[in-house]
Amino acid sequence: MVYMSKNRSPWIHQLNRTRPVVQLKHDTEVDVAIVGGGIAGVSSAFFILRDTDKKVIILEASKVAHGATGHNAGQVTSYFERPFDELVQEFGLEKAAEGQRAIELSWELLDQIYTEAELTIPLSRFVGYDGFSTLEQICDHLKKNALRVKAHLPVQMLFISENFDLKNDISAEYKDLYTIVSHKKVLELLETENPDFIAVAEDQKGVINSALFTEEVVAYLLKTYPDRFNVFENTKIQKVVLKKDDAVLDAGQAEVKAKRVLLCTNGFENFEILNFDLAINTEFHHSINGVVARMSGYLENLNKPPMSISYYLKPTAGFDDMEDPYFYLTRRPFDYENNKHNLVCLGGPQHTIPDREEYIFDYEYPDEYQKETDDFLRRLYDVDPNKKIEYVFTWHGLMGYTPNRVRRIGYEPLNPVLLYNLGCNGVGILPSIYGGKRISELLARKELPESIFDPKDQRSI
Ligand SMILES: Cc1cc2nc3c(=O)[nH]c(=O)nc-3n(C[C@H](O)[C@H](O)[C@H](O)COP(=O)(O)OP(=O)(O)OC[C@H]3O[C@@H](n4cnc5c(N)ncnc54)[C@H](O)[C@@H]3O)c2cc1C
Repeated sequence: MVYMSKNRSPWIHQLNRTRPVVQLKHDTEVDVAIVGGGIAGVSSAFFILRDTDKKVIILEASKVAHGATGHNAGQVTSYFERPFDELVQEFGLEKAAEGQRAIELSWELLDQIYTEAELTIPLSRFVGYDGFSTLEQICDHLKKNALRVKAHLPVQMLFISENFDLKNDISAEYKDLYTIVSHKKVLELLETENPDFIAVAEDQKGVINSALFTEEVVAYLLKTYPDRFNVFENTKIQKVVLKKDDAVLDAGQAEVKAKRVLLCTNGFENFEILNFDLAINTEFHHSINGVVARMSGYLENLNKPPMSISYYLKPTAGFDDMEDPYFYLTRRPFDYENNKHNLVCLGGPQHTIPDREEYIFDYEYPDEYQKETDDFLRRLYDVDPNKKIEYVFTWHGLMGYTPNRVRRIGYEPLNPVLLYNLGCNGVGILPSIYGGKRISELLARKELPESIFDPKDQRSI
């Protein structure tokens, strides 16, 4: 494999930080110690500080927003990386719908943070599209949508091309869930000339630089709660000792005594958790699978609106080596070297790593992956076929997949001194924010109904 490009993320590139890195060097005592300074840790801090009177500290092994938060695709979306019908099968219709609704409503929480912290950084919200090329993809979408209707969730409208030969094979029970449109319309919405696409689904989407967002929220919290909030970076937690009513965190040069410990580590904390009498099954933490996902981005003229499109291709569409060819892009305004551009970001190949410790942040970006992504782009999106595209940014990040692909938010069942807001699952911007709000409600002792996000006692799994 030839390695060429570095891990260079546009989100980190845009950080304009002046705040010095402060390491924890003295023992301290707080109400809530948050481990992990990504969007989950910082959103949790936002809601805990706003809605309770607790003293909060964030302990970050590296720098704020330099984990998955600084290396993602930056798409704001509310789907789970597990089909809705499977969530219904596992949790029942009502609970699955409640979980889905909670994430969809988290757009409002994002708006609240923007308004209250007076953020001025870009956030675009729009209707995004998923393009389908097979009957199976269409039927899967309709099946999920039928369940959404049953659960009183908003329908994600589907447009099917009048040219699609198999449209009469679609079950009559779904007839209210799609509209027949011209083939031209389908291709227009998908911004492609590739005739293989025969249907398009719409959904609420957005784009954000979640690293910049996280960094700005930290600045706001430091300014707003100088007596109740602090952030320490280059401060890796090495051990957490849980007792009955509090915990001690070993931060190397210093110790933190906390009434509650909230893990916002994305699932990759690599430390020991000792519990006073019941052993917490740390296998739980090792059950989070690491998936390295690669992204690349190039600049084009600022002449199109922000957008997010996913392309689900036919398995035979010239990508014979791939079982499930899938490709997505986002587009957004982006300032680069004092000029305004559109940044087009492409989701490239992913691979699972057998041991999460294998992920090396500085892995370079192999050329062959770049070529694969470039091939997809040229087959699908409106680019000049003769133009060489310069990928100004190529980056990768680590996604933590919980076994059931649902984020874990709440108390550790064996000891409520420990809480979680983690498990990235590929889509984590809105879920992290929702998790932060839910954690603050739990800490404020609000009675919350059971949810799909509740951590389970791992001894019974
Ligand atoms: C390539 C890629 C594309 C993605 N695309 C999208 C997308 O388009 N939309 C979307 O919604 N989501 C996306 N995600 C997922 C999303 O980025 C994550 O879910 C989200 O950023 C997770 O935030 P977090 O705070 O939980 O984790 P992180 O940002 O990873 O933060 C965890 C932090 O914990 C720290 N930490 C770990 N161990 C310790 C320790 N022992 N002591 C102290 N600190 C520690 C780490 O240093 C890290 O900074 C993507 C992820 C990747 C990798």
